[in-house]
Amino acid sequence: MPRRSERLLLDHATPGAQREILVHRYGTPGARPKAYFQASLHADEVPAMLAAQHLLRRLDEAEAHGAIRGEIVVVPYANPLGLAQFVNSEHMGRYELGGGGNFNRHWPDLFAPVAETVAAALGDSEAENVAAIRAAMGKYLDGCAARDALDSLRLTLARLAFDADLVFDMHCDAAALIYMFLIPDHWPLAADIAADLGCRAVLLAADSGGASFDEAFSTPWTRLAAKYPEHPIPAACLAATLELRGQADVTDALAAQDAGALFRGLQRHGVITGDPGPLPEALCDATGLDACETLRAPSYGIVTYAVALGDHLRKGDLVARLTDPAGDPAAAPRQVRAGTDGLVLSLRNRMWLQPGETLARIAGREPLVERQAGKLLDD
Ligand SMILES: [Zn+2]
Repeated sequence: MPRRSERLLLDHATPGAQREILVHRYGTPGARPKAYFQASLHADEVPAMLAAQHLLRRLDEAEAHGAIRGEIVVVPYANPLGLAQFVNSEHMGRYELGGGGNFNRHWPDLFAPVAETVAAALGDSEAENVAAIRAAMGKYLDGCAARDALDSLRLTLARLAFDADLVFDMHCDAAALIYMFLIPDHWPLAADIAADLGCRAVLLAADSGGASFDEAFSTPWTRLAAKYPEHPIPAACLAATLELRGQADVTDALAAQDAGALFRGLQRHGVITGDPGPLPEALCDATGLDACETLRAPSYGIVTYAVALGDHLRKGDLVARLTDPAGDPAAAPRQVRAGTDGLVLSLRNRMWLQPGETLARIAGREPLVERQAGKLLDD
């Protein structure tokens, strides 16, 4: 069945400014496994949209060869609201300028609405439980009405993704190595995807506290399994946030490389037929998100780095200096040092920082005390 492309209109458009989601579908509806991809939910994270275009080319070829076994849904730009947000010539794609906050937070909770309604349908068959839970989630989402345009965006994407076996939410960081987020239940199931992408970190958290897109679909299963231990309920939705390096890492070579890795991942997970070839050696093991240190600017200042991406640091190593332009030029700039041993995973690409802004991420191995409580994701 050839690719079907469809435009889904968002509700609550401002007059004269109708927004829409473009969705491409491959394979027979309902065929398994189902894979869902979306690009640039944070609309200023452009590498993801380019990778999606390269992936679509690969999928068109696979379709022409009759190689699509499951179902594949690709949303090549997930955030038409954010794509249009420019302020004084600068693109503002991370937060909804109408006051809706971070586009990758506050996704619908699918656990609470189905936890009670699905109880009577659960039994001893894992496959039947999965089907019953997906049906309950679908019924709940069908009954939701969007309160505003942002809510409509969330509902539209959630209805496309909720019943997938594999969900890939493609983002990037400011300036970064390639890495991904998962819940622990999907490690090492996703180890092949991480290895083929060449991930330098895989950050695991059972609940990062931000209600991000990926966790909206992966965590309901683990929560239902905990609530109903007498029924077999698998972690049926492997959902990953992929951080495709930094905002400026936009080249066709990188996008083609990432799309190739994802395509081979679909082959390894049975969505597409064909031989993916040998798996490259993994560049990292998975580590806890609570072991990933977020260093923050202690004050306003001009950041200059003493490290580069990929550097291995020891606790106490100098990471950055923060120069106060109003300060005594003879005084030493403030120093920011690593609080853990680890890998320099991401840095900033804007060098004038406010107090509290993230300045660097260091992927360590030891859980950090300050990361044990509260939210593990930046806003
Ligand atoms: Zn993002």
